[in-house]
Amino acid sequence: MADQSHDFFTLSVHAGSAVRVDDSTPAVPPIVPSVGYIHPGMEETTATFDYPGGTPYDSSKHIYSRYSAPNQALLEEAITALEGAEGAVSFSSGMAAIHAALLALLEPGDVVIAANQLYGLTRSLLNWFAEMIDIDLYFIDFLDTGAVQSALETFTPDLVVCEVLTNPLVRVVDLQAIAQIAHDVGAVVLVDNTFATPYLLKPLEVGADIVVHSTTKFINGHGDVLGGIVLGSQEPMQKVYGFRKMLGAVPGAFDAWLTLRGMRTLALRMQQSCSNAARIAAWLDENPAIERVYYPGLGDDPCHATATKLFPDGLFGGMIAFEIANVDRQGVFKFVDGLKLISSVTSLGDICSILLHPASSSHRTLTREQCEAQGITEGVLRLSVGIENADDLIADIDQALSR
Ligand code: PLP
Repeated sequence: MADQSHDFFTLSVHAGSAVRVDDSTPAVPPIVPSVGYIHPGMEETTATFDYPGGTPYDSSKHIYSRYSAPNQALLEEAITALEGAEGAVSFSSGMAAIHAALLALLEPGDVVIAANQLYGLTRSLLNWFAEMIDIDLYFIDFLDTGAVQSALETFTPDLVVCEVLTNPLVRVVDLQAIAQIAHDVGAVVLVDNTFATPYLLKPLEVGADIVVHSTTKFINGHGDVLGGIVLGSQEPMQKVYGFRKMLGAVPGAFDAWLTLRGMRTLALRMQQSCSNAARIAAWLDENPAIERVYYPGLGDDPCHATATKLFPDGLFGGMIAFEIANVDRQGVFKFVDGLKLISSVTSLGDICSILLHPASSSHRTLTREQCEAQGITEGVLRLSVGIENADDLIADIDQALSR
């Protein structure tokens, strides 16, 4: 510790840095941006080099913030509890999390079966792995459980990758059935649970081995932090942790703190978002200007039975897709531009309702024919329903449709 006998250069570095240990603990965790950690002695310092295993707010276990740090560890501990996992490793984005999970799970020569319906960049990442480390990669329609079964039996993969609620048409993959068959052929199952969140489904409980999230979406829920997380049992988490340490895609202390703060209201936000989505989907379904509504909560939706099997009673998520009848791109843009409460934002899972036109954004690299083969016509919009009042949202859609 510095005192006034020290030189100005020394004082400017050391003055005011004495750590005060009080009898009280802050009710809300402080943000700890420190890169390094000081321990009582070298024995303790040496011991911190190993995987801290979801260590919570215990600075004695941290050494360097690319390895682990208190705010990241708290976030990991919290989401581990929500997903019913053994451990978790947080990342600076969803893509960084998926990248590290694949690095930890894949070896040259492996066979991978992935869902056709995966998020576009996850697909690109898998294609890149296939080229770089010689992986046999097959994309299959995961909404056809029979097709997945026959691919699993034919190719006996090492890894299966899917999402439960698909993008953009909010279809439901029968994870329970697929995980069972995948395990029968000895495959590891990796599930991106970003759209469903553990409020709707804990994939580890129905057979997944590893779960990933873009915490950017529903988990943070406020559209102000990029983040990702990988969850599973201790052994694969140690490998994932090793890759984070090497590659350094760690969330900053403030980002981890914000994400945890956002996560505190996940259940409330999901409850309101699911209830709003159910009301809006039912209203759209009755509207003659709407050609088709994709929402697994509708009784006649082809995915209703699977959703009812996988999700808690009466909950079907906060995502809807719908197709405006007889509309070209100009017409659909006019509708979107006419909305007053709902904005066009390339994300999802926020407190405010946001909407995306897949044909001109997420799926713009596909030809019109490729898009239409997947049901993504010019009139299709994806709506991430927020926590506003449902009547206000319906009135907004109604006035924009009347244009
Ligand atoms: N997984 C899904 C299902 C996504 O929708 C996204 C992004 O939209 C990602 C992963 C990637 O997450 P991030 O943008 O946080 O890197």
